[in-house]
Amino acid sequence: MRYLFFIAVIFGISTSMQAQKYSKQAVDSMYVIAIKTQEELSKPKEIKIMAVGDIMMGTNFPNDSYLPRDGKGPFDDVNTILTQADILFGNLEGTLTDEGENAKRCSDPSKCYSFRSPESYGKYLEDSGFDVMSIANNHIGDFGAVGIKNTSKTLEKHNIAYAGVFAQPSTIFEKNGITYGFCAFAPNKDCLKIHNLTNAKKIVQELKQKADIVIVSFHGGAEGFKHTHVTRKTERFYGEDRGNVYKFAHTMIDAGADIVLGHGPHVSRAFEVYNNKFIAYSLGNFCTFSRFNLDGVKGYAPIAEVVIDLEGNFIKGKLHSAKQIDEIYPFMDEKKGALKEIKRLTEEDFPESKLLFEEDGSFSQQKE
Ligand SMILES: [Zn+2]
Repeated sequence: MRYLFFIAVIFGISTSMQAQKYSKQAVDSMYVIAIKTQEELSKPKEIKIMAVGDIMMGTNFPNDSYLPRDGKGPFDDVNTILTQADILFGNLEGTLTDEGENAKRCSDPSKCYSFRSPESYGKYLEDSGFDVMSIANNHIGDFGAVGIKNTSKTLEKHNIAYAGVFAQPSTIFEKNGITYGFCAFAPNKDCLKIHNLTNAKKIVQELKQKADIVIVSFHGGAEGFKHTHVTRKTERFYGEDRGNVYKFAHTMIDAGADIVLGHGPHVSRAFEVYNNKFIAYSLGNFCTFSRFNLDGVKGYAPIAEVVIDLEGNFIKGKLHSAKQIDEIYPFMDEKKGALKEIKRLTEEDFPESKLLFEEDGSFSQQKE
């Protein structure tokens, strides 16, 4: 409609100008102005970002019994939600590789948690509309350098932007006329470090120079039922420094990030809005087919929908509650467990954000 309107305007301008014997140059410059205005108008005013946590669609290591056998796609039951996103994000908790040896030292392979999904599974991610993924986590190195290389190649083949390893600390991609900068951090080997705030800040600042919207991902914080709260301190787990996720997220926003998406604890954590920018502290497990404990809150698979303006400021959101049970891909949870859990944690950990959740999962900031 707008397009037709502009054609009419351009036609009107040019014929009337030519009738008045304006120079061809003047008419041409009017064309340029009209076309530029058309581009501005056709740019969306808001962006709907959807984010999910850990994705491991099935592994053929240590053997094929950890792959699905019913031919069902990993996202079949949640695709109606996922495909509504302008930008869809997830954390790839494993590798997509058809070669490579297990790089973890394990005396008993049955207890060795290394994840190797077939490269052919990359198509599931593309079909569901994943635009960007973090590969900064404790599993990207499971099959060594070849695993990282093949995972990267597979994501590229399916037009999915990714970052988080030394070969690809950050990336820039474009969609619907908007340029996005993306970077991802974790405490783990092979990954850009969540502890090195100076370096992380520098990456975000550089992305901000080149991109309209900067998205930052982190895989951090302690794991499990006892670690659902954001402590605002450095978290240690299995003797490892898993980062101070509160300090990290705030530092990234101060450096220019527009949205910060966390995962890693295998449980959901609170949302926060800090300086008008949205933070999810942990999106938990989303599509972890086998070899993950999915008891209780670990089975919640939140889909965070966040609407931002072109300055990256938070407008509103909606939390869609999906769920997993062992060796069943995510499906919508009528009991809305993820919503109840994240609402509770957000009210307890970040009352100053004044986020109000409705029963249908919609959330917005309470006005002063
Ligand atoms: Zn992890």
